[in-house]
Amino acid sequence: MLKTDVIIIGGGSTGCGIARDLALRGIPHCLIERYDFASGATGACHGLLHSGGRYVVNDPETAAECIAENMILRKIGEKCVEPTGGLFVRLPGDSKRYRDDFLKRCAATGIATEVLSPSRALDLVPNLNPSLEEAITVPDCSIDPFRLCMLNVTSSEKRGGVILTHHQVLDIIKKKGKCVGVKAREQTNGEIKEIRAKVIINAGGAWCDRIASLAGSRVRLSLSKGSLIIANHRLTNMVLNRLRPASDGDLLVPNEAVCLAGTTSLTVENPDDLEVHPFEVDTLTREATAMVPEFGATRLIRTYAGVRPLLSANTDDGREISRGFRIIDHKDGMLSIVGGKLTTYRLMAEKMTDTVMDIFGLKTRCKTAEVPLEGQEELSGYPLSKRLKDISDIICECELVSRHDVERVAQKVGTRHIGDIQHRTRLGMGPCQGGFCTYRALGIMQETGKMTPQESTRILKEFLQRRFKGIKPALWGDQLREEQLVESIYLGILAMEQEQ
Ligand SMILES: Cc1cc2nc3c(=O)[nH]c(=O)nc-3n(C[C@H](O)[C@H](O)[C@H](O)COP(=O)(O)OP(=O)(O)OC[C@H]3O[C@@H](n4cnc5c(N)ncnc54)[C@H](O)[C@@H]3O)c2cc1C
Repeated sequence: MLKTDVIIIGGGSTGCGIARDLALRGIPHCLIERYDFASGATGACHGLLHSGGRYVVNDPETAAECIAENMILRKIGEKCVEPTGGLFVRLPGDSKRYRDDFLKRCAATGIATEVLSPSRALDLVPNLNPSLEEAITVPDCSIDPFRLCMLNVTSSEKRGGVILTHHQVLDIIKKKGKCVGVKAREQTNGEIKEIRAKVIINAGGAWCDRIASLAGSRVRLSLSKGSLIIANHRLTNMVLNRLRPASDGDLLVPNEAVCLAGTTSLTVENPDDLEVHPFEVDTLTREATAMVPEFGATRLIRTYAGVRPLLSANTDDGREISRGFRIIDHKDGMLSIVGGKLTTYRLMAEKMTDTVMDIFGLKTRCKTAEVPLEGQEELSGYPLSKRLKDISDIICECELVSRHDVERVAQKVGTRHIGDIQHRTRLGMGPCQGGFCTYRALGIMQETGKMTPQESTRILKEFLQRRFKGIKPALWGDQLREEQLVESIYLGILAMEQEQ
């Protein structure tokens, strides 16, 4: 049985941020995540490090948190934040009154803006719709949520934090009405482990209520599903937002070699309800094409969805709900943290760790805003072309991931699954969506003794099923042709349909 001071359930940005803060304040802890890091909303987001512009009109408090955290994260996380800058684009028909309000509130919140004429905006983003009325610059950035989680966890690992990925919390152990530990199942072999602690933190995102109920508590949440689509080109070097009250398909975010368009907002009951509906793909394509006409002629390579763990509110419109966060003390040794944004994860972690320090009667202050994220020396940073210097022996051509990168991650303790390689190296995240590189990476995992040939074939089959689920809603035109090519490689050359 493992004993520690604090158990964190959930390895999204919130849980990983808390692990880092506890580590820097010298508190022993154990983080438990049922899959890999960033498997929930964190890995399903746009990867937008908000300037706050998107919330400044309706939720100025969250906007103020976003701009403050944006400035901190670009300083401490240089290798996972691409300072692209952002534009709010006003198209014909978009309200001038909203634009005036937006500018006034940005000034009051400290979000730097500049109003650009259409020609100046087109100089910055040549693919913009040439009939735009104007554009306003904001300090938005693109951020890699996977790298962000890994780097936060590095600080924890370096200071003796126990990190259990691929472990699902099945039960919370209570003694005399107090939470004293958890039972977690190791996903790969089914082994049940018992971990004891003085405080349990529930950072389970959209699953917070389910986790709290294991201890007989409730966390009231509004669950809002958002879907996104990925186009196979980087059609813009800046984040593009539509200058209007938040609605479907307002955002286009560059992400290394591709760009992401999102999002929708649909209330769901079940946090595992991640189906992307054809009408969502249509809406997102239409709205992205309104800002960037070229989007409509570009191949869509993937769809995906995530569920926002929003504070509970009396409305069916997820967009009306504050993006603020709340810490709930269940008064039985368990604390839950809900709401917030990826952008504000560090602040959320700071407040949660302050609460834990109060419980322990300790005063060590938070340093996460000053100390750079550790482990960045292993990353090439931006732009993607920096990786060209390691051009030999490339395993993933889209994202320029070398054999050396794959081997380095494969050899690490805790690497068990192809997703572990993908999240840490970006292998398979580019235009081919892993179609041409996943089997190579699995071959390396076999060579390094991480898995048997039978396991790697099973994992490859599972990967192909997941990949197809994401691609299916976008299967037409060139993408359909590409899928036929991928299918013939896997079925025709690699004979994946046969029993191995
Ligand atoms: C479509 C979409 C787009 C978004 N875009 C942005 C954006 O661009 N910028 C931004 O700032 N924010 C964005 N957000 C919001 C942001 O993604 C979330 O607020 C944030 O990632 C939540 O992080 P989290 O760690 O609290 O939750 P999650 O990332 O959901 O993490 C919870 C974790 O708990 C794990 N877990 C659940 N049950 C168990 C269990 N029993 N045992 C062990 N582990 C368990 C899950 O596997 C999961 O990994 C977006 C959200 C969505 C849905």
